[in-house]
Amino acid sequence: MKHNFGAGPCILPQEVFKEASEAVLNFNNTGLSILEISHRSKEFIAVCEEAIQLVRELMNVPEGYSVIFLQGGASLQFLMTAMNLLPEGGKAAYLETGVWAKKAIKEAKNFGEVELVASSKDANFNFIPKGYTIPQDAAYFHVTSNNTIYGTEMFDFPKTNVPLVCDMSSDIMSREINVADFGLIYAGAQKNIGPAGATVVIIKDELLGKTGRTIPSMLDYQVHIEGESMFNTPPVFSIYVAMLNLRWLKAKGGVAVIEKENTAKAEALYAEIDRNPFFKGTAAKEDRSRMNVTFVMENPELEKEFLKLAESKGCIGIKGHRSVGGFRASIYNALPIDGINALVEAMQEFEKSQK
Ligand code: PLP
Repeated sequence: MKHNFGAGPCILPQEVFKEASEAVLNFNNTGLSILEISHRSKEFIAVCEEAIQLVRELMNVPEGYSVIFLQGGASLQFLMTAMNLLPEGGKAAYLETGVWAKKAIKEAKNFGEVELVASSKDANFNFIPKGYTIPQDAAYFHVTSNNTIYGTEMFDFPKTNVPLVCDMSSDIMSREINVADFGLIYAGAQKNIGPAGATVVIIKDELLGKTGRTIPSMLDYQVHIEGESMFNTPPVFSIYVAMLNLRWLKAKGGVAVIEKENTAKAEALYAEIDRNPFFKGTAAKEDRSRMNVTFVMENPELEKEFLKLAESKGCIGIKGHRSVGGFRASIYNALPIDGINALVEAMQEFEKSQK
C-alpha cells in the first residue's frame, strides 16, 4: 500500500482515477474516448457546466462572480491578474510569503507599480507576516493562502476595502472560505481539484474592464467568461477529471466535512513532530499549513535513514522541496488518515530504533 505525500501534480482519490480511466476508453457509453469527443458536443458542454456548477456549489460562490476554467497554470495567473486588474499608471500591493508570491510580484511589475507590504523572506518564509498596512490606493492586494514549499498557511485574511486577490492553488477546497471577501481567487487545479492543465479562476465581475489597456484576447478574463471557458479548445480531460473529483467531494459532504478531516490529519502529524525528539517543524506554529507539513530532523545526518524507513512503510514523496530541505508531507484532500498513521508509525519506529 502506497501513501502518496507528494506535493503534486494531481493527488486524487483512487475511485476518481478509476472512473477517469474508464472514460478514456468509453465516455458515458458514447463508445468514444473522453479524449476524442468534441468539446462542442452536448456531452462535453454538460461536463464543463457541471464542473463550474460544482465549484460554485462547493465554495458557495455568490452572485456577481464568474467561475472559469483556463489553461497556463497558476503561473499564467501571476500576469493575468495584473494585466486585467492593475490600471495603467496604477499600483498593486503584495504580500511576499514565498517563491510563488515572488513570481507573482515579478510579473505584476510589468504592468504597474508594486508595493510590497510585508515579507517573511528574511526567515526563509517560515511565517505569515501580520500587522501590515494595505495602501488604500492599491487596485488590489495579492496574497498566497498556502505556501506549498514552506508549509505556511494564512488562516486570517485581512478585512479591507481593497479587493483581495488570492493564489489559492494549494489549499482551495480544503477549507471553508468566504468568497465574498475576495475580488479574485485563482488556483492551478492540480492539488485538490484535478489534473494539471486546468486552472480555476473565480472573479468578481465588477472589477473587470477598468485598466485602460488593450488586453490580448487569450489573456482577457472577459473573453473567457463570455466564451464560457471555451473561447478556445479547453483541456477536456483535466476538466472532466476535475468534475469527477468535485462530485466525489460533494458526495463526501463538501468542503466543511473535508476541512474537519484535514484538520484532524494535520493535528495528528504535527503532534508527533512536536512529541518526537528526532524531529522538528519548520513553520511558525500559528501558521502551520494543513496541506503541506514541513519538518526536519534534529540531526540532519539521520535523514536518509529515516527516509528509507518511511518508504518501507509505503510513505512516498516526503522529501522536502530543494529550497528548504528536510521533509515535506503534502496531505491534500485525497490522502486518507491511514497515510498519516503510517508516517507517524514510521517516526515512532525510528525513535525506538535509535535507543
Ligand atoms: N502557486 C502555488 C501556491 C503553487 O503551489 C504552485 C505550484 O505548485 C504555483 C503557484 C504554480 O502553479 P503552476 O505550476 O500551475 O503554474
